[in-house]
Amino acid sequence: MKEIVRLLHIVRPFHWWMLFAAVLGFATIGSGIGLLMSSAYIIAKAALHPSFQELQLGIAGVRLFGVARGVFRYIERLVAHNTTFKILSRLRVWFYESVEPLTPARLLQYKSGDLLQRITGDIDTLENLYARVIAPPLTAAMISSLLWILMGSFSITFSITLLCFHAAAAVGIPLLSSYLNRGTASKISAMQTGLQTRTLDCIQGISDLMLFNRLDDHIRKLHQLKHQELKLQRKQALIQRSHESLTGLLMNGAVIALLWVLTPEVSAGNINGVYTAVVIIAVMASFEAFLPLPDAAQHLEANTTAGKRLFEIVDVQPAITVPEQPEQFPENHTICFDSVTFTYPETYSPALSNISFSINEGEKIAFIGPSGAGKSTITSLLLRFWDPSEGTISIGGKKLEHFDPETVRQNIGIVNQTTYLFGETIRNNLLLAKPDAGDEELKQALTFAGLETFTGKLDQWAGQHGMNLSGGERQRMAIARMLLQDAPVIVLDEATANLDTITEKSVMQSILKFCGQDQAKTLLIITHRLRNMELFDRIFVLENGCIVEHGSHHELLKNKGLYASMWSLQHQPLFPDLITGS
Ligand code: ADP
Ligand code: MG
Repeated sequence: MKEIVRLLHIVRPFHWWMLFAAVLGFATIGSGIGLLMSSAYIIAKAALHPSFQELQLGIAGVRLFGVARGVFRYIERLVAHNTTFKILSRLRVWFYESVEPLTPARLLQYKSGDLLQRITGDIDTLENLYARVIAPPLTAAMISSLLWILMGSFSITFSITLLCFHAAAAVGIPLLSSYLNRGTASKISAMQTGLQTRTLDCIQGISDLMLFNRLDDHIRKLHQLKHQELKLQRKQALIQRSHESLTGLLMNGAVIALLWVLTPEVSAGNINGVYTAVVIIAVMASFEAFLPLPDAAQHLEANTTAGKRLFEIVDVQPAITVPEQPEQFPENHTICFDSVTFTYPETYSPALSNISFSINEGEKIAFIGPSGAGKSTITSLLLRFWDPSEGTISIGGKKLEHFDPETVRQNIGIVNQTTYLFGETIRNNLLLAKPDAGDEELKQALTFAGLETFTGKLDQWAGQHGMNLSGGERQRMAIARMLLQDAPVIVLDEATANLDTITEKSVMQSILKFCGQDQAKTLLIITHRLRNMELFDRIFVLENGCIVEHGSHHELLKNKGLYASMWSLQHQPLFPDLITGS
C-alpha cells in the first residue's frame, strides 16, 4: 500500500484530471440509471392509461438521459485515456530520471532481462493505476451516495437495506477475490521476468547454445515457464469472471430485499405504486458501478508489485553525487591521482591501493599489467563511474567530484575493449559521437580508424549489436567515434586487443598522429599486450592494484622488474623447447 501512496504522489500533478474523469464516469452511469428510471416510469404510468400530458416528464427524461449518457461516455473515455497517457508518460520520465544516475555502476547487479521487464512490463502495469484502480472506487462511491440519497427520500429503511448490498458488492466480493487470487499477480510478474531474462539470454547466446546443442533445452524451459504463466493467468481469469455472477447475485438479492421492504409501504398507500418499478430499476442499474471493483482489487495487487519492483531500483543510492554547482572543465588537463584507494561494493580487497601519479597535458602514457591488476578501474574512476573510496583525483588542479559527470565524459574520450553498436546504420552509429557531423567528417574519421572500406557504406546496417561487423571492425568503429568526439583527453582501454598486428600498428600510428601535432591531446593507453611501447613517454606498471614500476620503455627494461619479465615473455616463443626440438 505504501507503494501506491508513493505512486499517487508522483502522479499528483494530474489529480484534477483524475477527479474530472471520475465525475464524468459518475455522470455516465448516473445518466444510464436516469434513462432506465424514466423508461420504467413511463411504462408503469402508461399501464394506468394516463393523459399524454402526464407522461411528458418521463419522455423528457428519456430524451435527456439517453443523449447525455452517450455524450458523457464519449467525453469520459477521452478524458480517462488522456489522463492515463499523461500518467504513463510521467511515470516513464520519472523512472528514467531516477535510473539514469545509477548507470553504469549500480545497474551492474541486475540482469538485463529483469531490467527490461521493470522498464517496460512494470511501467505498463502501472498504466492501469488510474483507469482500473483509482477511478472505479471513486465512481462507485459517487453512484452509491446518489442512490442512498434517492432511496432515503422514500424511506430510510430502503437506504439502509441498499447500503448493506452495496457494501457487500464494494467490499465483500473484492476481498473474497483478493483472497482467492492472493499472490497470483506477483507470481505472474516473477514468471514474466524469468521469461524475459531467458528469452533475452536465448537471443543473445543463440550461437553458443547451438554450438553446445543446448538450444532445445533452453526452448523447452521457455515453454515450461510460459505454460506456468498461462496456468496462473487462467486461474486469475476464472476468479475474475465469477465476480460478475456474484455481483449479479447481490443485485438480485437487493431487488428482492427492497421489494420485501417496499410492498407493505405501497399496500399502506405510503408510496405510489408507480415508483416501485422506478426504484427497483434504479437499484439494478446502480450495480453497474460495482462490476469493476473486484478487478480493481486485482489490479491493486499487480500495481503494488510493479511499484515495489520499480522503487527497489529507484531507491538505490547512486554511486556518485552530482554537485549542485558543478565547476567548468579546466583549460589545463593535467590529471592527478593522489593516494587513491578503491574497493568495489561487496568485495573485500581493494581493486586499487594507494595509487598516486600525475599526467601532464599532452603526455602519452601507457598503463600495463596483468589481467585483474586494476587498469580498467583507473578508467572507471577517471570517468566518474565511481568515486574513490580514499584519496582524490583531480584534473587541472580541480577535484573530479566538483565536475558534472557528463562534463567529464564529454572531455574524456574512451574506447573500451567491448564496443556497443546499435542496430542502426554505420552513419547513425558514428553520429552518436557527433550528431552534427557531415558525411565528409565521418569518412575522414573512418579512414583515420583504418576503416576506409566503410566510407562508401555509411547507409549499411550494422546488424543487431553490430553483429554484421567483425570484432576488429567494431573496435575501429569505436575509435572512429572517439576521433569524432574530439575530446582533449583520450583513453584507450584494451582498444586494439582485437586487431591483427599490422592493423593495430597502423591504427596506433593514426591515433598518435591525431593526439600529437598541434592538438596536444593527452593519451592514456591501457593494455596487457606490450606492443609499440617505445611510442609512449611514460609507462606505469600495475600489479594487484598497486603501481609497482614506472618509467620509459628503455628504463623499465633496464630495471629488470615485472615489465622486463612481461616483455620477454611476450616477445619470445611460448614453447621454445618444442621449436628447438630438445
Ligand atoms: P584489469 O582491467 O586490470 O584487468 P579491472 O580494473 O577490471 O582489471 O579489475 C580489477 C579488480 O577489480 C579485479 O579483481 C576484478 O575482479 C575487480 N572488479 C572489476 N570490476 C568489478 C565490479 N564491477 N565489481 C566488483 N569487482 C570488480
Ligand atoms: Mg580491463
